[in-house]
Amino acid sequence: MSVLVLIENIEGNFKKKSFELAQYAATIAKNLGTEATALVLGTCDNAAMTQLGAYGTNKVLHVADTKLNQLSAKAYAKAVIAAAEKIGAKVIIASHDNVGKSVAPMVAAHIKAGIITGAVSYPDTSNGFVVKRNVFGGKAFAFVNISTDTKVLTLLPNSFPVIAAEGTATAETLAVSFDDQDFGITVKETNKVTGAVPLGEAELVVSGGRGLKGPENWGIIEDLAATMGAATACSRPVADSHWRPHHEHVGQTGGTIRPNLYIAIGISGAIQHLAGVNGSKTIVVINKDPEAPFFKAADYGVIGDALEVTPKLNEAMKKFKAAQH
Ligand SMILES: Cc1cc2nc3c(=O)[nH]c(=O)nc-3n(C[C@H](O)[C@H](O)[C@H](O)COP(=O)(O)OP(=O)(O)OC[C@H]3O[C@@H](n4cnc5c(N)ncnc54)[C@H](O)[C@@H]3O)c2cc1C
Repeated sequence: MSVLVLIENIEGNFKKKSFELAQYAATIAKNLGTEATALVLGTCDNAAMTQLGAYGTNKVLHVADTKLNQLSAKAYAKAVIAAAEKIGAKVIIASHDNVGKSVAPMVAAHIKAGIITGAVSYPDTSNGFVVKRNVFGGKAFAFVNISTDTKVLTLLPNSFPVIAAEGTATAETLAVSFDDQDFGITVKETNKVTGAVPLGEAELVVSGGRGLKGPENWGIIEDLAATMGAATACSRPVADSHWRPHHEHVGQTGGTIRPNLYIAIGISGAIQHLAGVNGSKTIVVINKDPEAPFFKAADYGVIGDALEVTPKLNEAMKKFKAAQH
């Protein structure tokens, strides 16, 4: 019995969510008295792969086929199944992101394994294999048991703090043969997200909604974010109206983020928006309507006009930062 974890490789590098995933898999393996092996697909050099050892996965299987540099769910699933067979994996883990959401269900269906998607806890193995996951857009939790021999999990990113330790991983090449059918659906083009702080990785997020009135007022959001070293986000109607790019849209139909601090400015707090942000450690809401539903989810609230309060908050933040130096 061992644990296999699919680690997404982005142009030969790993993101914070991959280290979190490696650490999650290593902890599960340790609790089960076994080891975790990472699976890396596509071009990646040894130096990058050795980093995974600092998060507890000391072994890496590497399928170096360059066709895997772009996501092809069927080919990825084939590689995962081959790696799982090689090490006799009984727990297979992926991230609850674009890659994991498309690959993990294929793997589970193929090997007839039970699957839990969007896990936010370690499995409780005291009576079965029970994992906590968000349901109803993050309004509630479900505790789900997998009873099949092999189990598949996807972990919701930002569920655990990432802590690097000592250790390096050793990589071994795994040969998997693919045919054209495995690449029936491929990514043709990727538009990279620009911005100082990637939203999915950000610890601090400043987010704006329709209360900002229009894109011409977004400077106050960007200024505050720049002062704080935060990423910017927005509600869906803001992205739908092309005030902001769609990759900034958070919520049920957008990104799910769990930063340490989420500042929501001129956002009503509809349930579909909260679904993407209610895992944030601290929520600050600025809204002129004291009845705005977001205040119920907030740790701190300011009732006031965003166009007045936000620049003042920025000035206060600048003074606070200056006093720290
Ligand atoms: C199937 C489905 C999926 C959806 N998915 C998402 C999703 O993923 N993400 C998402 O965000 N939404 C989603 N929505 C839309 C969601 O229901 C809300 O309509 C949306 O979140 C509202 O965005 P908003 O708060 O920016 O705008 P509004 O609802 O218009 O709220 C604007 C807020 O700004 C406040 N305000 C106005 N002027 C000021 C001012 N000067 N200063 C301070 N505050 C001010 C108002 O009091 C109000 O609370 C979805 C809806 C459906 C049906």
